[in-house]
Amino acid sequence: MAIATINPTTGMTEKEFDAHDAAEIDRRIGEAVTAHAALRQTSFAQRAEWMRAAADILEREADDTAKMLVIEMGKPIAQARAEVLKCAKNMRFYADNAEQFLADEPLSDPSRVAASQAYARYQPLGVVLAVMPWNYPLWQVIRFAAPALMAGNTGLLKHASNVPQSALYLDTIFERGGFPVGSFRALLIGSREVKAVLEDPRVKAVTLTGSEPAGRSVASIAGEQIKKSVMELGGSDPFIVMPSADLEAAATTAVKARISNNGQSCIAAKRFLVHTDVYDAFAKLFAEKMSALVVGDPLEEKTDVGPVATESGRSDLAELVDDALAKGAKVLAGGGAIDGPGFFYQPTVLSELTDDMRIILEEAFGPVASLYRVASREEAIRIANQTTFGLSSAVWTTDVAEESYFITELDAGAVFVNGMTVSYPELPFGGIKASGYGRELAAAGIREFCNLKTVWKG
Ligand code: NAP
Repeated sequence: MAIATINPTTGMTEKEFDAHDAAEIDRRIGEAVTAHAALRQTSFAQRAEWMRAAADILEREADDTAKMLVIEMGKPIAQARAEVLKCAKNMRFYADNAEQFLADEPLSDPSRVAASQAYARYQPLGVVLAVMPWNYPLWQVIRFAAPALMAGNTGLLKHASNVPQSALYLDTIFERGGFPVGSFRALLIGSREVKAVLEDPRVKAVTLTGSEPAGRSVASIAGEQIKKSVMELGGSDPFIVMPSADLEAAATTAVKARISNNGQSCIAAKRFLVHTDVYDAFAKLFAEKMSALVVGDPLEEKTDVGPVATESGRSDLAELVDDALAKGAKVLAGGGAIDGPGFFYQPTVLSELTDDMRIILEEAFGPVASLYRVASREEAIRIANQTTFGLSSAVWTTDVAEESYFITELDAGAVFVNGMTVSYPELPFGGIKASGYGRELAAAGIREFCNLKTVWKG
C-alpha cells in the first residue's frame, strides 16, 4: 500500500511519501535505544514536565492538527478537534498519575524465613513498537505513547499507510516538549516490514491496534520472539434495549454510538438488540434519526457524517450490506453508497437479519446498523455473544436484576449501562476473544509495558 494522504472527501491524492529504507529504519531504532538509555535515568517529575509541555503544544495547535486529521481520514471537524484535546488530557493524566501507578508495592512474605522487606517494582522494558490504525490517528497513538514514555520506555510508531502526516506530527511532538531525541520515532514502512522490526533484538515489545488479521499476524511474530504484546482489535459491540429503557434517550444515544467517527470506531455499537415489546417504537425512532443525519464535507461544522476513510473500506462495507440484502434483509434507512466524488455511504439501518448473513458475525466499519428483535434477555445474550469479538457492550434497562444479569453474562471487555461506550484516561480499555488482550488507559495501561520485578530482602 502506498504511503500517502488520499483525501476521502474528494478521492484525490494530496501527498505521497517515500518509505524508509533499511538503513533509515536501523538508524531510527538506534535513536530509540539511545533515548531509552537516557530516559530511564530521569525522574517522574522530569518526564511529567516534558509531557505537560508536549500537551500544551498539542492544545495550541489543535485547530490546524484537526484539519490535518479531516484531510487524512475524513472525520467531522468537531470530532477531530475533540480528539486532539482528548490526547492532551490523556498526556496530563499520565503526567499527574504515573509515579503513583508505578510506585513500589509492598508485599507480605509467606516464606519460612521472613523477609525484612518484600515489594514489587515496575521498570520500563525499553523500546516498544506500536502498530496503529488510521481511525483515530492521534488518540490511538497517544493512549499508548503517553503512559509508555512516562514509564521510561521509548516508542517506535508504524502508523497506518493512509495517515503519514499524522505519523510525522507525532514523530516530533514529544521532543518538542523536551523529551530526549528519539524518544518517539515514526517509521514510514509498510505492513510487510513490521516482522523485521519486531524481530530486531533491540525492540522489546509490541502493541497493535487494528483488525483481527493484522493482530493474528503480529501476535504470532511476538509469540515466536517471546516478546510481550498487547492487542486492541476489532469489535461488533451489541447495544441492548429492554422494555424499561427510556426509548427516546436510547435511540438518540444509539445513533451517536453508531455514527461517531463516520461509523468507524472499534467500540461503536454495531448491532442493536431490542426487546420485542419496544422493538417497533425503537426501530421507528432510530431509523428516523439515522435518516435525518447531515452527510457531507467533514470540514463543515454542521456535518454529522463524513466519508468512509478509504475506497476499499467503502467497498467492504457495501459488500456486507449487499450480501444481507440479497439474503432477505430489509432496509429501514439508507442502503447504499452515495454517487459523486469521495467515499461517502448513506447512514443505513438493516432489519430482518438471518444467521446466514455475513453482517451477523463480521464487523461493519462504517455508518451501518443492524437491528435485531429479541424475545427475552436470554435471547439478547445469545445474539450479543455469538460473534467472535468481545470488545465492549451497552445495555439500556432500569431493572436492577436485569442490569446485573447483563453485566455478568456479556462476553466483553466493558459494559456501559444506560449510555454508550466511550474511552476516558481513567477507564481501563480492551477486549476479550478476537477483540484482543491486554489493557490500555488507567493504571493497567501503564503497567503493560513494565517489568514487574519482585524484590525480597532477608
Ligand atoms: P488494519 O488494516 O489492521 O491496520 C492497522 C495497522 O496494522 C496499520 O498500521 C496497518 O498498516 C498494520 N497492518 C495491517 N496488516 C498487517 C500485518 N499483516 N502485519 C503487520 N501490520 C499490519 O486496521 P485499520 O483498517 O487501520 O483499522 C480498523 C480496524 O482497527 C478495525 O477492525 C477496528 O475495529 C480496529 N480498531 C481497534 C481498536 C481497539 O482499541 N480495539 C481501536 C481502533 C480500531 P498498513 O496501513 O500499512 O496496512
